[in-house]
Amino acid sequence: MKAREIHIVGNWKMNQTLHEISNFFIEMTKMKMELKCKAWIAPQALHIAILKEMAFTTGAIQVGAQNCSHTDSGAFTGETSPAALADMGVEFVLVGHSERRTIFNEGNEILNQKVLAALKNNLKVIYCVGETLSERESNTTFSVIEEQLKVGLQNVPADKAHLVMIAYEPVWAIGTGKVATAEQAEEVHAFIRGKLTQNSEHAIILYGGSVKPDNIDTLLRKENIDGALVGGASLKASDFRALCSSASVI
Ligand code: PEP
Repeated sequence: MKAREIHIVGNWKMNQTLHEISNFFIEMTKMKMELKCKAWIAPQALHIAILKEMAFTTGAIQVGAQNCSHTDSGAFTGETSPAALADMGVEFVLVGHSERRTIFNEGNEILNQKVLAALKNNLKVIYCVGETLSERESNTTFSVIEEQLKVGLQNVPADKAHLVMIAYEPVWAIGTGKVATAEQAEEVHAFIRGKLTQNSEHAIILYGGSVKPDNIDTLLRKENIDGALVGGASLKASDFRALCSSASVI
C-alpha cells in the first residue's frame, strides 16, 4: 500500500486532433475502468474546454494545462492566464517542463513567478525539475535539482504548499526511450523529498521520462515515486488505461 495516492498524468504536448481526442474518450468509456489512482491529462490550451466536456462524461479524468503565464491579465499576446484557467475549472498546471526550459528559455526565476501566479489562483502546480545528460555525467544532478527547487519554489505561501507537486524528469529520458532505472529515479525522488521545506511528507513526486505500460510497475514500487508524468504513452487510450491499471493495483 502506497503512502500517497498515485497520480498518472498525461502530457499530450502539441499533439491530438479533435477526431483523435474524441476516439480517445470513446475508447476510455468502452473500457469502463475502475480507477484507483488519479488520472489527469494536460492537452494543448486550445483543447482544454472540449476535453473538460468529454472528461466530464467519462467521469474519471481531470484536465490541466501545460503552461501558464506569470501574471493574471494584460498585454501578453499568446499567453494563457492562470486566472482564466482557474475560471475554466482547470485542476492543475505544469510549470517548468524541460521543453519550456530549453526551447522557450524559461529559467528558474520566471518559473517561480509562474508557480506563484498559479497558486494564487488555487491551481495545483506540477513543478518539473531534472538534469540534462551532461549534468548527470558531470555529477551535478543533485546541485542542479537543488537550485531548481530552491529558486522555483521560493516564497510559496504556507497555506498553498499542499497544492505543489513535483515531477522529476531527467531530460535525457524524455521522449528518448531511455528510462531511468527505478533505483536512479528513487535516489533523486528521496533527495527531492528531503529538500522540500514544506509539506514534504505528503508531497506527490512524479517520475517522467519514457514511462510505458511495461516499465511503470517497477517505478511505482519505489517508496518515493508517487506516480508518473507521461508523454508519448498517454496519447493512446489503450496505453493510458494500462498505465492507470498498473497504478490501481500497486
Ligand atoms: C514528458 O513529456 O513529460 C515526458 C515524460 O515524455 P515521454 O513520456 O514521451 O518521455
